[in-house]
Order: sequence, then structure tokens, then C-alpha cells
Amino acid sequence: MDFPIVYAVKHKDLDVRMASRSGGIFTAVSDVVLEKGGIVYGCVLDEKFEAFHVRATTKEERNRMRGSKYIQSNMADTFRNVKADLEAGRKVLFSGTSCQVAGLLAFLRKDYGEQLFCMDILCHGVPSPLVWKEYLQWQEEKNHGTCVEIDFRNKKDFGWDDHVETLKIEKGDGTIETVNSKVFRNLFYSHKIIRLSCYKCPYKDITHPSDITIGDFWRVDNATPNFDDNKGVSLVLLNTEQGLAAFEAVKENLDIRSCRIEDSMQVPLKKPFKRPEGRDEFWRDFGDKPFDYIAKKYGHYRERTLLWKIRTKFKKLKKKFRKRK
Ligand SMILES: Cc1cc2nc3c(=O)[nH]c(=O)nc-3n(C[C@H](O)[C@H](O)[C@H](O)COP(=O)(O)OP(=O)(O)OC[C@H]3O[C@@H](n4cnc5c(N)ncnc54)[C@H](O)[C@@H]3O)c2cc1C
Repeated sequence: MDFPIVYAVKHKDLDVRMASRSGGIFTAVSDVVLEKGGIVYGCVLDEKFEAFHVRATTKEERNRMRGSKYIQSNMADTFRNVKADLEAGRKVLFSGTSCQVAGLLAFLRKDYGEQLFCMDILCHGVPSPLVWKEYLQWQEEKNHGTCVEIDFRNKKDFGWDDHVETLKIEKGDGTIETVNSKVFRNLFYSHKIIRLSCYKCPYKDITHPSDITIGDFWRVDNATPNFDDNKGVSLVLLNTEQGLAAFEAVKENLDIRSCRIEDSMQVPLKKPFKRPEGRDEFWRDFGDKPFDYIAKKYGHYRERTLLWKIRTKFKKLKKKFRKRK
């Protein structure tokens, strides 16, 4: 068998797909592990909107792992907990970036066979949690409230292929304001806020350390036409016999199309992103200047003038009026 075996995948349950970043493959595979009494590890946002790896034994706990959090996840005691679960004879699904999977395998230094199943995500590089924290504080100050909900990439309102972060900010009078922004994603895509090690990532290749690799299937039309509905398609690379068996076990819950790896390539499958010029300047500015300066200079933030607000209101009214007709 030649690995990786490549599929484009959509979960048949649209609610699952809409709650997931791409096509919902993580939910499909982790459902089976949980139903058989296994344990799932993955990344969630805590109450301070910091990313952490946690342990889940129920679907409710696992659901918090859905959705991409575009910051480095804090592993805390995860590796030790995974080891304890494996030593206790439990089945474990560990999900995370390729370097987190490789780190876990190096830590365990023992082959647990079918007891351990690893799933890694295709990864651009992980942004700094410190920049994220200051970005959040800046949004809260600017909008005079406290953030109560975050979607790093709002698929429901903007579609799968767009990238808009949505923050719900609670004001002093209890009202909630919705803030849609591209500032953090602009910082992310500038590649200036990802870790130094990401520029030398050894996993930017088609070979990965896990059983299944999952990603957003960008340009899926090149690989398999008429499958994309802008609600999310997962790119799935089956890397091992165990990955193949897990996929076979959940296939009936998925719409799938077999693809060729040559038609499914994206940059993180070929090489790491280059360290951009101006990275040092960014970090000097980040240390010295207020975040508003950073947002304008590096995040393409523009102050919304009264004229902009009137125009937007007018456009919204026009749209509403057209829909009624
Ligand atoms: C930092 C980052 C960079 C990414 N870059 C790319 C890219 O270049 N190309 C691409 O195709 N896709 C990228 N993705 C998206 C990733 O491939 C999707 O999370 C994946 O497609 C999940 O598919 P799903 O529909 O099964 O989603 P979901 O059910 O939403 O899956 C969520 C999974 O992502 C994991 N996860 C979420 N956030 C993190 C995090 N911060 N650290 C570690 N694990 C996390 C969870 O543990 C869970 O396993 C990136 C995601 C992140 C977090």
C-alpha cells in the first residue's frame, strides 16, 4: 500500500460540519474512539481565551476542541496524562500540530500499537499567544466591554473560504456587540508572529508523524470538481494501516472522494514559510509601541470614520430592502 492515501471529505451531518473548521473529519474519528470508551486529547480555548490541550471522555468535552484556534496551544501536563492513560490500558486519540505529535512520540519512547492513535493538522505555523492576548485587550478597550465569545474564523456568516474573526463584546449595560475583524488574521498571514522554529519545520512535507493528517482542502476543485459548497471540505491523508482502518470505520458517516496527492498540494505540504523580512522590526515595535500602532502598521487596521459607518448602514438597509422585494 502506498501512503499517504488522499481523500476529500465532508461529514454527512451539516451541523457537525458547520461546527468544525473544515469537513468535520476530526469529529467523525473521535466519535468512534469515545463511543468505545477511549479518550481524546486536543486543543480548546479556556475562559480567558487562551489555547490549552485538554483530555475529553465525552462528546460535550470533545466538542470544545472543534474549530481552529490560531495560536500556540499550551500542552501543560498533556504528555504525562496521555502516558498515564496508555499505561492504564485505555485507547487514546491525540490531536494537535505535527510537532506536538512528534513531541508526544519522543516523550513516550514506547510503541503502544493500536492503543494510541495520532491525528495531526496541516499547519501554517503557530502564532504567539502574547500577541493574541494584547490583540484581545485592544479590542476590549476599543469597544468598551469584555469579550465573552470568540470565533477565530467565522464560517457561519462568511463562508469556509473567507477568514474573519468574530468577537462578542459585552458592554457595561449588558448589551452584546459583535465585532468582525481581520486584524489578527492579517498578523498571522504576515508570518511575523509565528514561532521561529516554524520557519524550519521538518513536517512541511507529505510525510507526517501521525496516522491521519487533516487540513482544509484548498483548491479542492482541482482535485475533485463539484464537491465544494463553501461549508468546508477536509483534506485527509491516511498515513498508516491504522489510519486506513480508522477511516474505513467511519466512512459511512462521510461523503468522500478519492484524490491524487499531486492535485491536493498546498504550501504546508511542500516547505515551511520563509522568515519574512521585517520580523525583527515587528517584535521591536511590539515591545515598544501600543497595540493600536501594531494593528495599523502590521494588521492593516483602519479607523472607522463616521462616513464609513453611514455608508455601511446604508448598504445593509439596501440589502434588506432588496431581500424583501
Ligand atoms: C495554527 C493553525 C494553522 C493551520 N494552518 C493550516 C494550513 O496551513 N493549511 C490547512 O489546510 N489547514 C490549516 N489549519 C486548519 C486545520 O487543518 C484544521 O484544524 C483541520 O482541517 C481540522 O478539520 P476538521 O473539520 O476536522 O475540524 P475541527 O473539528 O475543527 O478540528 C479541530 C482540530 O484541530 C485541533 N486544533 C485546533 N486548534 C489547535 C491549535 N492551536 N493547536 C493544535 N491543535 C489545534 C483540535 O485539537 C482538533 O483536533 C490550521 C489550524 C491551526 C490551528
